[in-house]
Amino acid sequence: MALPNVDTTNLKSFIPAEKIWDLVQNTRADDPIRIREIIQKSHNKQRLELDEMATLLSTQNPDLQALIFEGAKTLKEKIYGNRIVLFAPLYIGNKCVNDCAYCGFRKSNDEAVRKSLTINELKKEVQILTSKGHKRLILVYGEHPDYGPEFIAETTRTVYEEKNGHNEIRRCNINAAPMDVEGFKIIKDAKIGTYQIFQETYDEKVYSKVHPSGLKSNFLWRLHALSRAQEAGIDDVGLGALIGLSDWRFEALSLLQHTIHLEERFGVGPHTISFPRIEPAIGSQLAHSPPHPVSDDNFALMVAALRLAVPYTGLILTCRESDAVRTRLLHYGVSQIDAGSSIGVGSYAMSAEAQKKEQFVLNDQRSLDDVIRKLCNAHFIPSFCTGCYRRGRTGQHFMEFAIPGFVKSFCTPNAVLTFMEYLEDYASEETRVAGYAQIQRELANIPESNPLRQELVTRMNQLMQGERDLYF
Ligand code: SAM
Ligand code: SF4
Repeated sequence: MALPNVDTTNLKSFIPAEKIWDLVQNTRADDPIRIREIIQKSHNKQRLELDEMATLLSTQNPDLQALIFEGAKTLKEKIYGNRIVLFAPLYIGNKCVNDCAYCGFRKSNDEAVRKSLTINELKKEVQILTSKGHKRLILVYGEHPDYGPEFIAETTRTVYEEKNGHNEIRRCNINAAPMDVEGFKIIKDAKIGTYQIFQETYDEKVYSKVHPSGLKSNFLWRLHALSRAQEAGIDDVGLGALIGLSDWRFEALSLLQHTIHLEERFGVGPHTISFPRIEPAIGSQLAHSPPHPVSDDNFALMVAALRLAVPYTGLILTCRESDAVRTRLLHYGVSQIDAGSSIGVGSYAMSAEAQKKEQFVLNDQRSLDDVIRKLCNAHFIPSFCTGCYRRGRTGQHFMEFAIPGFVKSFCTPNAVLTFMEYLEDYASEETRVAGYAQIQRELANIPESNPLRQELVTRMNQLMQGERDLYF
């Protein structure tokens, strides 16, 4: 197994911490005209600057906050429509050489039962997930010499090859330890979707405290991981911060700064941004009482501000959050959620036993079918689309945002087609009814005169005849 070539002597941080702390501590935001101007800038499809996002995050007046929530909602509806992309996490192994204070997988946690999936166990997990209708996964790995780039590539290929009738995974995203450029090239060759890694905290002092040892203790190696991924040709990258380690406004502004850095260096920002809040984890005192917890209301403000600040990027909210929080935040800009998730290693196949080994606690434990029905009842359209990635439209996710009509021409029809597959192959009767009602609402929004409508209806008929995997 090739170990990464870790040399950070020439790397510098691109996070201007002093400036960001100054913005967090000294931004005053009580001018409705300024808030309206910032929202308008975002609606004009421009990414915000740090001071503008700081203004949104500092707003305490409920009436002004209402403007921000409304602005985020309008942006989401106008630009992205009502699609919600669905995925599931698949934990491959929890061996770990690091000692992250918040994580149940950490090396010094004697309560963790260590396990890596064998190839057969991996196939079994995939069979279970695909039999429920999943088409998109994120594979998650601890940081360990056993989980080098070759292993990640091999497990990814195994997932793609595990097909049975209509059941198949069409996009594998990866959440695994940062590699060197050579390592990233190896996993790119296995046709990964997004490479995702969270900085956890951009506050260097806190970073050192909570990552006392192992490769992850090197702040700069991790900070530049997504740049190395880009250098290796992986142009869909996902960034994130673990909310609760330092001030939430500092983390949110740093996520924006990281975005600006990627835009400047590679001409394209992140494909997705994640902002998990720390959840209790087995054997972690810190995870049970995080040093900087954020309230639900401030969390919602952060999500709305991120939506407005980086209008072209997907925002992910996982089952770590409750059904109620997730449902609320779907309106303010969240565009991807997982569903029916289980996060023990091997736990889709052996849930009762594997639950004990879970890395942290999931709050939303509804099944995929339940989540989908509720989305439809709230007039969202669930999507399992993998069209852009498979048509080579990667690294260009801003197209959705920048090209007028892109969403209507590609994203919505692909959502309808992939969702219809779900309804035909996997849904409960109740969900089928709710789902087809939603599809009718989508069709009603496409004028009869639009040739796209005829094309979409043709493909829907092909699906009814048994064809699958149709996309624009
Ligand atoms: N080992 C890799 C790493 O550390 O990046 C990938 C796997 S790690 C389990 C994936 C993510 O889980 C971490 O980046 C961290 O943000 C998140 N995580 C760890 N402990 C958590 C907790 N107690 N609550 C919520 N998220 C947590
Ligand atoms: Fe290991 Fe990742 Fe957990 Fe840290 S967060 S202990 S690196 S699995």
